[in-house]
Parts: sequence; C-alpha cells; structure tokens
Amino acid sequence: MTTLADRLAAVDGSIADAARSAGRSPDEITRIVVTKFHPASLVRELVELGVQDVAENRQQEFTAKSDELAELTQLRWHFVGQLQSKKAKTVRRSAAAVHSVDREKVVAALDVPEAEPLDVLVQINLTDDPNRGGVARDDATRLAETIVQTASLRLRGVMAVAPLGEEPGPAFERLARCADEVRRIASSATWMSAGMSQDFAEAIRFGATHLRIGTAITGPRPNQV
Ligand SMILES: *Cc1c(COP(=O)(O)O)cnc(C)c1O
Repeated sequence: MTTLADRLAAVDGSIADAARSAGRSPDEITRIVVTKFHPASLVRELVELGVQDVAENRQQEFTAKSDELAELTQLRWHFVGQLQSKKAKTVRRSAAAVHSVDREKVVAALDVPEAEPLDVLVQINLTDDPNRGGVARDDATRLAETIVQTASLRLRGVMAVAPLGEEPGPAFERLARCADEVRRIASSATWMSAGMSQDFAEAIRFGATHLRIGTAITGPRPNQV
C-alpha cells in the first residue's frame, strides 16, 4: 500500500526527470491534481502536502467542493470538463482557470463585463471525430480571437486530451503547433495544458506547461459512474 504522500512524491519525481530529459526546467511546469469523484477530505490532505492546484471536470462537483473548501483561499480550482453555457457563470465564480472553452457560446456565457479577467484556455480536439470534446484545430485561432476580444477573459493557451488508441507523442506534437499559433494571437497565451497519469512524460517532451494528473496521485476513483 502506498500513501497519497508517496504517490505525489513519485509523480513529482517523474515530472522532474521528464523535464530534465527534455532539456526543460521542472519549475516551468505546473502539476494540477484532478480530484474528481474523490471527497473534499482528499483535497484537504493534498493541501496539507503542499498542493496548490486542483481540477474537476463536472460543474456540480466543482461547485460543491470549491464551496465546501472556500476557506482554503490559497487553493486554485481549475475547471477541465465540458461546460454547459447555462452553468458557466457558476463555474466562473470559483474558478482560477477554465481549460475547456470549446465554442463561442461558452465564451459569451463566461463573459462578465467589468469583472477581473478570468484565465481561459481553448480546448482542442486532437481527433478527427467532431463528437469529441474541443474545437477543431482549424477553428482554434478563430475562437482564440473571440476570447481576446472579450475583456473579462484572459487567453492563456490551449488544452487537450490525447486521443485513445493512438500514440500520444504525435498528438501532442499537433497540439504544440496549435499552441504556437494561439500564442501569436496573445502574448498571455503561454500555457499548454496536456498530460494525464499515463502520458505526462510525453506531454512534457512536447512542451506541456500544465499537467492534469488524477489516478497516478489519488489512486483509483471511488464510485465512478
Ligand atoms: C480525469 C481527467 C484527467 C486526469 O486523468 P487521469 O488519467 O486520472 O490522470 C485529466 N484531464 C481531464 C480533462 C480529465 O477529465
């Protein structure tokens, strides 16, 4: 049996190794722990271990946990799941960043004129299947431009999930090209959110700045539906 502290330390060690083999500094990489399906008590344990960034992928769970842990003001909550536009303002209320902006309607729904800018990323679909999450690569810059024109949003970069049944390396390489194009639109767009438990070393190789790691740190998810 490993403990949460053991797994966190092991993953951080692997992140540092992967960064060095890629000729990068581990300091330029942010490790976000995906806590979906786990109770708020696990998030508290993570915070005691020094974790500052956590992520959820479903609005109800995101809102419930961030509300329950609202006194942990140093903790940054990242939203990484599909966002319904009618829930966008609720997510915005507690989000440090929304990684999954994939259509104009969500941009409009997240906009709160006069508010402090919210960090957002364009989610890119790295497959050829239009039913998968994210905007098609060809449409990414147009969506990025819409975000730049929205004063209450700050374009931070791109996010993607590696397609199933394919080597992650070439997919992350496509994402890195897309990240470069989006970076040309806004100098704030320096993030590339990619890499999960199984593929974070590859993501680091191709320039990921923000890793979203769940089970390798938390252990298996309870009651997954
Ligand atoms: C669940 C999830 C992760 C983490 O997945 P693991 O394989 O558990 O590391 C990362 N990104 C998104 C969008 C997720 O939904």
